[in-house]
Amino acid sequence: MGYDQDNIFAKILRGEAPAHSVYEDELTMAFLDVMPQADGHTLVLPKAPSQNLFELPDEAAGALLLTVRKVAAAVKQAFAADGIQLQQFNGSAAGQTVFHLHFHIIPCHTGRARRRHATAMADAELLKQHAQQIRAALGSERAR
Ligand code: 5GP
Repeated sequence: MGYDQDNIFAKILRGEAPAHSVYEDELTMAFLDVMPQADGHTLVLPKAPSQNLFELPDEAAGALLLTVRKVAAAVKQAFAADGIQLQQFNGSAAGQTVFHLHFHIIPCHTGRARRRHATAMADAELLKQHAQQIRAALGSERAR
């Protein structure tokens, strides 16, 4: 099956669906996951319409990884995380549920369990606050 132009992330990228955005440039965008595995759980996407890593154009790959690293540093700082887990699923057999390529950035704290993948919706006000924290960290020196 080909790329579905009406998947939820395509709609967010076109501005047709809302998202708590934390970063955007010419080739990539990052916003909060609405069912976070931990506070600050952020998704980073290429704007290129790719279902998975294998469909990503070579010329978009570098920019995507740079955004993942930049946003991961900001998330780590904003949530005082002990570590950052990256997740990236290719195909439903691997756990992918939205078929526009994305990396999950999940802040981890020693001894703290994470919530299950895509199960509980977060409070919108809390997400708004978390997005502000990450944007503030992106604007500061250590996140660059
Ligand atoms: P996947 O399983 O495809 O790697 O993950 C998709 C992720 O997208 C899940 O973690 C899920 O919580 C998140 N998600 C699903 N629908 C929406 C939505 O409408 N907006 C946002 N921001 N995240 C979503």
